[in-house]
Amino acid sequence: MSGRRDELAARLAEVRERVDAACAAAGRADAPPTLVAVTKFFPGSDVELLAGMGVTDIGESRDQEAGDKVAGLSEQVRADLRVHFVGQLQTNKARRVARYADVVQSVDRSRLVRALDSGRETAVEEEDATEPLDVLLQVDLGEGDEAGRGGAAPGTLGALADEVAAARWLRLRGVMAIAPRDLTPDDTRRAFDRLVALGEELRHTHPDATWVSAGMSGDLETAVAAGATHLRVGSAILGSRPPHR
Ligand SMILES: *Cc1c(COP(=O)(O)O)cnc(C)c1O
Repeated sequence: MSGRRDELAARLAEVRERVDAACAAAGRADAPPTLVAVTKFFPGSDVELLAGMGVTDIGESRDQEAGDKVAGLSEQVRADLRVHFVGQLQTNKARRVARYADVVQSVDRSRLVRALDSGRETAVEEEDATEPLDVLLQVDLGEGDEAGRGGAAPGTLGALADEVAAARWLRLRGVMAIAPRDLTPDDTRRAFDRLVALGEELRHTHPDATWVSAGMSGDLETAVAAGATHLRVGSAILGSRPPHR
């Protein structure tokens, strides 16, 4: 166990150095992003070790795994941790996610808005939650024929945002995206700039939607430069995971 602790501590320190350097380069040392450690495929014991190292936010992307993992955390660790659901979410899983997550970053359609709102309401009634669920709209940044990586088409964001804002048990916090695959750093920067601009547009009507979640292990510097408020970093902290699907 202490081997794993040392390994995580070393990788986390390296990531924090990368984030600090990127913030310094971007002139935002006084406004660093929130680091969300994406712990999918890794056990709850890793989450507890990371929490002991000052990690305040974790990300999960698979419902069954995430629900069991969060339920198994010690009460003390759970109380101080923000749990973000960042993966593709089927409508029939939304009610369960609305019970254990603090944030859902991957909202991309109306049906999901309704399912999360109703799931959160039930969770509050049953005293599993007290607050509305924080929600980010996931935007598809793919262009033309490129395969996007999930998310709502930019043109649909306004309507979706209005629906979230009208939902009693949801709180619209901003936007999220995954950069399209195989972009050059310049093109990744352009994609993140576009996401930031879409977030600004949203704030004309929803001033509290200030979060921009962008940047993963491979492109976090670019996301910091573009103005991301939240980074979602998995393998650079946890190590490589089994191939996804
Ligand atoms: C897995 C995952 C990440 C983390 O990716 P890494 O490249 O391992 O840092 C970030 N965001 C989402 C939506 C993910 O599913």
